[in-house]
Formats: sequence, C-alpha cells, structure tokens
Amino acid sequence: TLSDRLTSVLQNLRGKGKLSDADIDATAREIRIALLEADVALPVVRAFIGHVKERAKGAEVSEALNPAQQVVKIVNEELVAILGGETRRLNLAKNPPTVIMLAGLQGSGKTTLAGKLALWLKKQGHAPLLVACDLQRPNAVTQLQVVGERAGVPTFAPEPGNGVGDPVDVARRSVDEAKRAQHDVVVVDTAGRLGVDEEMMRQAADIRDVVQPDETLFVVDAMIGQDAVTTAEAFRDGVGFSGVVLTKLDGDARGGAALSVRHVTGQPILFASNGEKLEDFDVFHPDRMASRILGMGDVLTLIEQAEQAFDQEKAEEAAAKLGTGELTLEDFLEQMLAVRKMGPIGNLLGMLPGAGQMKDQLAQVDDAHLDRLQAIIRGMTPEERANPKMINASRRQRIARGSGVAVRDVNDLVNRFFEARKMMQQMAGRFGFGGGPGGGK
Ligand code: GDP
Ligand code: MG
Repeated sequence: TLSDRLTSVLQNLRGKGKLSDADIDATAREIRIALLEADVALPVVRAFIGHVKERAKGAEVSEALNPAQQVVKIVNEELVAILGGETRRLNLAKNPPTVIMLAGLQGSGKTTLAGKLALWLKKQGHAPLLVACDLQRPNAVTQLQVVGERAGVPTFAPEPGNGVGDPVDVARRSVDEAKRAQHDVVVVDTAGRLGVDEEMMRQAADIRDVVQPDETLFVVDAMIGQDAVTTAEAFRDGVGFSGVVLTKLDGDARGGAALSVRHVTGQPILFASNGEKLEDFDVFHPDRMASRILGMGDVLTLIEQAEQAFDQEKAEEAAAKLGTGELTLEDFLEQMLAVRKMGPIGNLLGMLPGAGQMKDQLAQVDDAHLDRLQAIIRGMTPEERANPKMINASRRQRIARGSGVAVRDVNDLVNRFFEARKMMQQMAGRFGFGGGPGGGK
C-alpha cells in the first residue's frame, strides 16, 4: 500500500527541520508508484502529484507537525479534496416523485443497488417504487422483484405474458403509477452490457428522456480498476450522470477507481456498496476512502490529535527552551498535559511507525504517575517552578505535605525533571514538538 511505501520515505524525513525539494521529489515518486498500484489512472496521478508537490514546497514550517507528518497531512487533504471533499447528498425533487435512474455495465451491481437504495430510502421515511427497465435478460425482472421484496418495497414491471416489454414505455408508465400510488421516489433499474455499446446507450438515453431523472447514478464496480475511466467517460457522453455509486468495495479494491472517476468526470460519488446484503451500503465518505487509499488511518489519527493538542505559541517557547536547557517545571507540566490530551501514552506510541525504542523509554511514565507529578508541581510556588534548583530540603518537605505525597516523591520528581529535559529533547525530535530552532535533530 501507499502506507508501506511512505513509511520508508517518512523515516528519512523524520526529524528534519524543513522539507527540501529533493525530499519532496523523493516522496512524490513513492506516492506516484503507490497510486498507480492502487489503479489510479495516469493523468489523474500526474495532476494529483503536481498539486501535492506545489503545496509541500509552499508549506509553512509547522510547529505541531514534523516534515514527515506534514507531507502525509497534505497528501491526505488532497486525496479528500479530489474525492469530493464533503459528502454530497441525494437531490430530491421539489415536486415528487423524485426519479433516480441507475446506469452502468452489466454486473456492476445496479439491481442490487436498487434494493439497497430502496431500503435506505424507506428507512429515511420515503415510500420508494422500484421500476424494472432491464428487460434484456429473462430473469432480470424477477431479480429486482426479489430484492424489492427483501427491502419491503413494491416493484413496477411489465405484466408477464405480454412478450418482451418496451423499457421506455415501462419507465413512462412507472412515473404515473408512482403519482397514483403516492410513491415519492422512483428508482429505475436499467439494462447493461458487458461492454459499452451504442444500443445500450441509446436505450438508456431514451429512458432518461421520458423520466427526466433528478439523479442519474453511474454504477461502477470498484474492482475494474483502470477500465473505470473509459467506462465512465462513455456513460458521461452517452447518457450523462449526476453522481457515481461505487460497488464491491468489500473486495480488495484499493479505491483507485474512485479517485479516477471522480476526477475525470467531475461528478461526485454519492454512495458506496460493500457487500451482497441489502444492508452493505452507505453514503460515500471521501475522508474514509482517502485513508483507505493512503492506508495510514492510524497515522492520520495521530496527526490530528497532535495538532489538536498542540498550542503553537507554547510550543515555540518550549522548543526554544528545550534547546537551551532552560525548561522550567511549569513548561514541563504544560508539555505533559499537552501529551496527555492526545490520549493514553500507550495508544499514542502504538500509532507511530517504528516507535519501539520510545515505548521502552516512556513505559515508566504512565497516566497515574502523570497525575502525581501534576499534583506535586501544583504544590510548588511559581519561583520554585521557574527555578527548580532552589528546591532545597525544607522546601521539599513543605511541597510534600501540601500535595499529599512523601518527600521521596518530590525528590524523585526533581531528579526526574532534569532527566526529563533530556527525554523531552528526544520527544521534540520524534513527535515534531520542536519544529523551531533547537527542536529536531
Ligand atoms: P447489474 O447487472 O448491474 O444489475 O448487477 P447485479 O446487481 O446483478 O450484481 C452483479 C453481481 O454482483 C451479483 O452477484 C451481486 O450479488 C454482486 N454484487 C453487487 N453489489 C455488490 C457489492 O457491493 N459487493 C459484492 N461483493 N457483490 C456485489
Ligand atoms: Mg441488473
């Protein structure tokens, strides 16, 4: 995955103060290969890489994130953007019924989707009607009726025994039927071929013309990879569509098709299908797909948490002090609380690739310990916090009494504090706390 590729590049970037052009180019190369491996179409990869490079080169030096994290953040943000950014909602007609037409190759999952959509709409309080306009294959109508029954939604189909019905006629009559029976949404299932052909496109276009859909959804199997682009272009030109549905995401598809189709057609992805059951269906979330392509969900979470917990100004001050060894107990407390806000230290370290050594080092600083340290520091006067060297024996006794601990604990903390300066310096490099002068090494 992209994650595997990036990890090695990130290892080299970790701890650098600023991204060099060479670093960015090397990272971009790996991202490029990874995207191609995820079946993203070449022109899309080019456009994407161009964008990421531009942003990385212009990026401000972040205090909260190290360069490696910054690159991942940019790549992730660009992926989310190219996948559509916000989740796009289904367009509903002002005057019902809303007509949703499904188009796509045979086997892409249209009929299954019709059932899923019907169930989903029903749960939202709509009264959908399924319409069987795939009259090409003998059992296509029955298949739709079966999923309709499972969803508890009626199916409008040509009367049996009338020979082969005309799908355009069925489509036309279905809208009248919907009005009569007070269905507010009509889902039109259409025929597909194994490959794109003119007759299929013409039929779909004819159905489109009589029902005037509020949404035409292009249904595409995420597993078809590179072919998704040519197929999408053919449907865009032949029928036109207002949205995309990705199916079979439960397979090992990397999501490259999603990226390509969205980018090439400019149409948003509305839904994702991830299984054969009617419930295996959800609104499409660009951010989730981005982490799937990136394969770095945990790292992304860590980056988010690091940014949230981090106060830029305090960081700058602390970073400068870390470098000169002027860290006070006050800073120490603040830093600990900042780390704390990121969640239990154990989880935090587990998310970092290659954090093995750090784990050993921090294993002794658990949450209960942090609580005690905090209590002791709060029991000190501001002068004592600013200048820990002045904390003599009688002061230690007073502090211990005030914060309800043994003198031994106070001794421990003071000794630890000087040790911790060293540790914080290392953390500054690893976590990107000290992006400023004296930070990363
Ligand atoms: P259509 O020809 O476009 O109507 O496609 P179908 O709805 O008949 O689906 C073709 C096959 O793909 C069927 O065997 C479905 O069960 C299966 N299928 C559809 N959607 C999904 C999905 O999201 N995941 C999986 N694993 N199979 C799916
Ligand atoms: Mg079908």
